[in-house]
Amino acid sequence: MGLDATVYCDCFELGRLKSAPKPEWSVFVAEDGSRCSSAGDINLLVDFDKWNIEACEHLDGVLLSLRLGNISLVSALSAQVKKTWADFPILLNRVLYSGSHTGDYIETNLVLGLQAEVARLAHVHAECAEDEEAIRLFHAELEELVSCALRVHKPIAF
Ligand SMILES: [Zn+2]
Repeated sequence: MGLDATVYCDCFELGRLKSAPKPEWSVFVAEDGSRCSSAGDINLLVDFDKWNIEACEHLDGVLLSLRLGNISLVSALSAQVKKTWADFPILLNRVLYSGSHTGDYIETNLVLGLQAEVARLAHVHAECAEDEEAIRLFHAELEELVSCALRVHKPIAF
């Protein structure tokens, strides 16, 4: 298990699609930023899924997807960050609160706040070299996710 973080592309919103979706699929952008169908019929949903996988240049509409580490790594990181918990409310409550949360997301309007926390993460260090390496990798991945999300005005989904 790990913590997968995803930023979806904005090709649907910008009309950068290889083929237009069928009107009966009722395609919309979900709160996590992904393309969804509100069609009630299972066959329509299957057709939508097939279309969605290759609807744009990004497989399944995924612009960036990173594995942020396994459960033990996330808990080690959480322990370090908690020492200065007041500086990292979004990171602690929305990212590190569980090593394997899924189906939730950090809203677009919170991504800027997360960016400030990620910048502060540069000053968080671990005592042992292994944890330090993990924190630096985590920091770099979060920077990439935040800048990607801000670029396309999308949430960071888990
Ligand atoms: Zn795309």
